[in-house]
Amino acid sequence: MNNNKYVYKFAEGNANMRELLGGKGANLAEMKSLDLPVPEGFTITTEACMKYYYDGKKISKEIMDQIDEHVDWLEQTTGKKLGSTTDPLLVSVRSGARASMPGMMDTILNLGMNDDVVKAVESATNNKRFAYDSYRRFIQMFSDVVMGLPKSEFEKIIDEIKERKGVKLDIDLDASDMEELTARFKDLYKNALHEDFPQDAREQLHRSIMAVFRSWNNDRAIYYRKMNAIPNSWGTAVNVMEMVFGNMGMDCGTGVAFTRDPATGEKKLFGEFLLNAQGEDVVAGIRTPSPISDLEKLMPEAYHEFVRISSSLEKHYHDMQDMEFTIEHGKLYMLQTRNGKRTANAALKIAVDMVDEGLVSVDQALLMVEPKQLDDLLHPQFDQNDLKAKKGDIIAKGLAAAPGAGAGEIVFTAEEAEKAAEEGRKVVLIRLETSPEDIKGMAAAQAIVTVRGGMTSHAAVVARGMGACCVCGCGEIRVNEEEHCMSVNGVTYHEGDIISVDGTTGNIYHGTVKTVPATISGNFAKFMNWADERRRLHIRTNADTPEDAKRAVEFGAEGVGLVRTEHMFFKSAERIKAIRMLCVAENTEQRKVALDVLEPYQKEDFEGIFEALGGRSVTIRLLDPPLHEFLPKTDAEARDVAESLGIKVEDVEAAAADLKEFNPMMGHRGCRLDVTYPEIGVMQAGAIIKAAIAVKTRHPEWNVVPEIMIPLVGEPKELEYVARVVKDTAERVLAESDVKVSYKVGTMIEIPRAALLADKLAETAEFFSFGTNDLTQMTFGFSRDDAGKFLDAYYNKHIYDFDPFAHVDQSGVGQLIEMAVERGRKTRPDIHLGVCGEHGGDPSSIEFFNRVGLDYVSCSPYRVPIARLAAAQAEIRRKREEENR
Ligand code: PEP
Ligand code: MG
Repeated sequence: MNNNKYVYKFAEGNANMRELLGGKGANLAEMKSLDLPVPEGFTITTEACMKYYYDGKKISKEIMDQIDEHVDWLEQTTGKKLGSTTDPLLVSVRSGARASMPGMMDTILNLGMNDDVVKAVESATNNKRFAYDSYRRFIQMFSDVVMGLPKSEFEKIIDEIKERKGVKLDIDLDASDMEELTARFKDLYKNALHEDFPQDAREQLHRSIMAVFRSWNNDRAIYYRKMNAIPNSWGTAVNVMEMVFGNMGMDCGTGVAFTRDPATGEKKLFGEFLLNAQGEDVVAGIRTPSPISDLEKLMPEAYHEFVRISSSLEKHYHDMQDMEFTIEHGKLYMLQTRNGKRTANAALKIAVDMVDEGLVSVDQALLMVEPKQLDDLLHPQFDQNDLKAKKGDIIAKGLAAAPGAGAGEIVFTAEEAEKAAEEGRKVVLIRLETSPEDIKGMAAAQAIVTVRGGMTSHAAVVARGMGACCVCGCGEIRVNEEEHCMSVNGVTYHEGDIISVDGTTGNIYHGTVKTVPATISGNFAKFMNWADERRRLHIRTNADTPEDAKRAVEFGAEGVGLVRTEHMFFKSAERIKAIRMLCVAENTEQRKVALDVLEPYQKEDFEGIFEALGGRSVTIRLLDPPLHEFLPKTDAEARDVAESLGIKVEDVEAAAADLKEFNPMMGHRGCRLDVTYPEIGVMQAGAIIKAAIAVKTRHPEWNVVPEIMIPLVGEPKELEYVARVVKDTAERVLAESDVKVSYKVGTMIEIPRAALLADKLAETAEFFSFGTNDLTQMTFGFSRDDAGKFLDAYYNKHIYDFDPFAHVDQSGVGQLIEMAVERGRKTRPDIHLGVCGEHGGDPSSIEFFNRVGLDYVSCSPYRVPIARLAAAQAEIRRKREEENR
């Protein structure tokens, strides 16, 4: 390929050139190669877009020359000329990235119109209304898309004229109204921008192309890329196409159609059209379009041709197609085709049906469904129509931390959330950030919103585990806890006001948005079985309670990859008190008193999880967070703890002050707690083995093999020491029992030094679990809770493409993982390797974990189906790549 070729005629491309031509351009080229009726045109490549940025937001002479050559060619081919007053060429300009990206630039139609051309069009068509309608639309779109003038300013003028004439629809405006609109739109343009509306057609084109390139970096596009891990370096292509007109009379029209019903997946042509209209009228909802079947009576020839083309496109692409078409004086033109967006249930039905119809293989069917979409089946979602209608009610936007939808009265404390739920009221819990003691309030709320914290913050992790909806890091919100209110962009909301939270997009709405319940259709089981047959990675879950673990097993989890033991301490007042006693204890004796209180709770919890897992593997992590997280918050709590330990309140306060750290995430936590206070490890290991013995006694046929995991290790001797404590305890407990239970001791890889010394660690560790939350934090050297404050600047400046706490950073953190895998296996070839950071449920990270040969990923229960499908897709793709090599 000629590297300096930046522009391709449609006839020069094909569907495989998506990277260069973008999705739209590649599909137009493919349709052209299939001899379908596509208007002539050309695509300016994604490389040209990237060069535009490289050259300091300028289109280089080389590219500009190629564009102009292609305009010359288009003029010759069509026999028309841009700006001509005898045979004017009008074109559309549309963006088209490699991946479909809602939020980028829209379309510009009728480019080439000016004060002279409009007259030429009028006399050539003998249709003044059409000519001025086309011109005013062009002014409107160019002003909006290229110059950033708000659409609403133009709509106001249209409404004014309609009101004056007493009509409701655009179609009721006549030729002179259109002429008036054109003049007034030009005035609006001039007044706002202090220049005349550009009359030179080539200049119009150049400026529009530049606007498409610019749109690659508008806020919406950057946000969309960040959420979907799309690299900034892809760029967008620009498609320039000869206009065909659906608004030239009643033998013209335009429409969109899907080859199957995108809501249900039913196999029938599904679509709408409008007579005498142009592209955006169908989607704009100004007039009610007619069902596509009505076209059969009105224009049978065009209709039958469209039916034939749609079915051949579906067969050709092996997927449901979403098509745009225009009919000009009875002749059909195809303007676009792409794989259609569909609901989750439709996606499963289409995939399963297409396998049954012999249209796709099982592998292809598995690749057709977006793993993240499975969320929609497991969580309630907002009604799409109501969401659209309430677009104006968005009051803030944060990180889409846990999917789903929830609405209710605002409350600011976990206690208030609990109380309201008991009274049967629905609430949304707003917190600056959450801590483990908010857990019950979080469970009681319909949705959780935090002002601070990122994708691995406490709120995000816990909400995902519960299947609750959560938006994090919503920095626009100012919370005033004393006054029980919050303000967002100057508006104050009080406790009791209703808001709706969309955990799938991160949007927060004023008032109630309608929800639709989660529904799992009959195709789910069949489809997921196919995924299970294809995947190599095992899927485990992160679960802290028997209920979560059970749910995860129902969703297909094959084991538990992480029990965060500390999350269990907040289940009751007695437990909180016991862990507080441990924190403020002044010596080993006092600590043992506290640990004796805690042990039966821990044993009961672990038994519950072993029972829920029915003999599947369970990895339990020793206590991890810094102890200060559990400290008493009120005087009464401090007094209570002091009494239980038989010490003075002042001593409790002194102990609390002692536990304060400058940098707790890098302080006294993880295995460091067991090195300083081995009695903690003794209690936890004892409780684990005792629980395993109890369950094994009840179910001798189960293979209960607890995996005891030591967190935050950075030094082999440190691991050796804590592992010794664990093993000695386990052996002592086992020696006292007739029941034999085997167990494993392993470590988390969360600190870069652990990855570097993985060969040494593997001498002790029987398994590694990559704690990619901490590993990311420690490798980047920024806090997982605070990074949200500055990461936006990094995305906007293209320093980072996406949140490394949501999608694993393959080039940096990934190297450490690969190194630890290789070094760990060198020492211990059968070492069991997994990941339990939040990345374990993220499709793009799963692709990486599969490639580097991990044995399993572990994720929150509601992400288990996503991980099963993502793991299958990763393996199918890996095999394909291998075969193609
Ligand atoms: C991790 O660091 O990836 C991990 C799983 O541990 P936590 O999130 O509890 O720190
Ligand atoms: Mg960790």
